[in-house]
Amino acid sequence: MTPQKPLAQLPTHDVINMPPHMGDQDLWQDDVALQESVRREGAGWAEADMAALGKAAGSAETFDKADQANRFPPELRAYDRYGMRVNQAIFHPTYHDLMSLAIKHQVGNFAWNNLGKGGHVGNAALIYQFNQVEGGVMCPMAMLYSSFPSLQTTPAVADEWIPRLLSTTYDQRDIPAAEKHGSTIGMFMTEKQGGSDVRANTTQATPAGASRGIGTEYLLSGHKYFCSAPMCDAFLTLAYSEGGLSCFLVPRWRPDGLRNGMFLEKIKDKLGNRSNASTEIELHDAWGIMVGDEGRGIRTIIDMVAGNRLYCAVSSAGMMRQGLVQALHHTQHRHAFGKALIEQPLMQNVLADLAVEVEAALALSMRVARALDEADTNEDAAAFARIGTAVAKYWNCKRTAGHVAESLECHGGPGYIEESIMPRLYREAPLNSIWEGSGNVMCLDVLRAMHRTPNAIPALMAELSLAKGANGLLDGAINYLESELHNRENLELRARALTEQIAITLQGALLVQHAPSAVSDAFCASRLAPRWSGAYGGLPSTVDFDAIIERARRN
Ligand SMILES: Cc1cc2nc3c(=O)[nH]c(=O)nc-3n(C[C@H](O)[C@H](O)[C@H](O)COP(=O)(O)OP(=O)(O)OC[C@H]3O[C@@H](n4cnc5c(N)ncnc54)[C@H](O)[C@@H]3O)c2cc1C
Repeated sequence: MTPQKPLAQLPTHDVINMPPHMGDQDLWQDDVALQESVRREGAGWAEADMAALGKAAGSAETFDKADQANRFPPELRAYDRYGMRVNQAIFHPTYHDLMSLAIKHQVGNFAWNNLGKGGHVGNAALIYQFNQVEGGVMCPMAMLYSSFPSLQTTPAVADEWIPRLLSTTYDQRDIPAAEKHGSTIGMFMTEKQGGSDVRANTTQATPAGASRGIGTEYLLSGHKYFCSAPMCDAFLTLAYSEGGLSCFLVPRWRPDGLRNGMFLEKIKDKLGNRSNASTEIELHDAWGIMVGDEGRGIRTIIDMVAGNRLYCAVSSAGMMRQGLVQALHHTQHRHAFGKALIEQPLMQNVLADLAVEVEAALALSMRVARALDEADTNEDAAAFARIGTAVAKYWNCKRTAGHVAESLECHGGPGYIEESIMPRLYREAPLNSIWEGSGNVMCLDVLRAMHRTPNAIPALMAELSLAKGANGLLDGAINYLESELHNRENLELRARALTEQIAITLQGALLVQHAPSAVSDAFCASRLAPRWSGAYGGLPSTVDFDAIIERARRN
């Protein structure tokens, strides 16, 4: 082993060959691929905002808070000391600090404070960075980011609530929203008997007065089985009214100043995402306003779901990035068999492969975010965003669990120990693949986009054609995808394979156009070559490992 200066001297031994503490990270400055993607996709003007969050969120202090917030998960406080029903989740103070930080930096509303200027791209970059630190507070940030289009369907609701949601002040007080400096918003869709299939909902809504339909008052009764971030100020909620499944805005407090009829029954004991309360609630004549047209509840809330899906895609890329950063740090400082791990050829193959995956996931989600920015004025962009969101949600999320496991393994034993961030990342990793449309549901959604959005496939093919002629494997993948898309046999059975093929071909096309050739060549020579197994560390020996690893490393 290379002689090393001791890191510490203990009575029985010197501590050597252990990595130094990582200290502060700069999630923006250290991430060249992120900076390039933000500039490329139209939010370069917002670099100062990105950089400010990157520094603040990446500090060792923020990482410590994230650790604390997950070690001390929220507790249910159903009643106060006098027996009054208060329905609160009590969070560790660090959770509030993290919420405050995220809201101050517009992680949940940057897009809506910067409409028409690349706001979704900027927002995606903020999500990518913050999610590297903590996933629990990102759940309410995702719902905040996604809620605007659903609220905009109903002017009276939008006028009242949107200004509150655009605030950059976190106000944790459990008081009526009108008295607060800023608000957050959640969503209640899932019930015991059905999550993907929300038509199975049984919650009922009856008119509270003589009027009915959009913008009028209803009382909701029933239950909801997964209600995350229950201290939000309002919740978009699905329930059946006379005209069918409809969407309602249900605030924590009623307009008459009383607590609304939503009763927290339980905080779930979850695998990960532990800083965030995910609850079961009963609705007893909960007061709400119908949002969107009666009987069109799924249509109304689907825009919120779509925003959450883009969030899942980009936040999964962020999670993979943080696992990679940790793995690079560890392997740079840990020696085995006479060399730093990062210099061992097989470890280089693993690290470079992990780095390529992060770049591919980031490029895909940022490209979709740009399409969302352009969607209001460009039909093709809207069609691309429609299919691209489903594809990116499926593939980025699907790749994350294996990616994080591999980054963890790069640490050897210490990666399995709670004091490192890796176990927390590992527990967080499968979640994005479940909520907001589990894997199969996303692939079926890709089929739905193909059938119901006539220019989805043309928009996709137009995007791919931009990269034609630069890489033979990519050209072959584009041709293969085209034939697969024309084949209408057994589409449902083939939906995963087809979605994966769209994802990797699109990622290849984006990298070939925009990434250094070391990265794009490695991507195409693995993901688009025959016999790719999907496991990490199998890049062919022609790859420029040093160039890929150097690019991924912190400055
Ligand atoms: C931590 C956490 C927090 C959550 N927070 C919220 C929240 O705040 N609000 C909320 O409304 N929900 C929330 N959810 C619920 C989440 O959105 C649902 O769990 C998810 O939509 C899946 O629904 P389900 O659990 O009923 O599974 P199911 O719908 O029963 O699906 C089970 C499996 O079957 C597959 N499947 C379903 N349909 C088909 C099909 N047609 N063909 C093939 N396969 C199919 C799915 O892909 C999945 O793998 C949360 C979930 C988690 C884990």
